[in-house]
Amino acid sequence: MQDQPQPLVVLMEDDLIHTPESPFCSDTTCPCREDPLLLAELDQQVTDGLLTPDEATAIVLGKTL
Ligand SMILES: [Zn+2]
Repeated sequence: MQDQPQPLVVLMEDDLIHTPESPFCSDTTCPCREDPLLLAELDQQVTDGLLTPDEATAIVLGKTL
């Protein structure tokens, strides 16, 4: 018997994890979201066609593609 509500979304990253593939974590208060270097790099990847603007936005929001 389990009364605890189960989260529908299972996040693989519970801790603050910054990797080359996902430099933005899921912590909305983490400064990585406002890091101009990271944002510029993401912007460059969009420019290079490596990411779509939607994908870039998702990454900034800490979502795993
Ligand atoms: Zn972060």
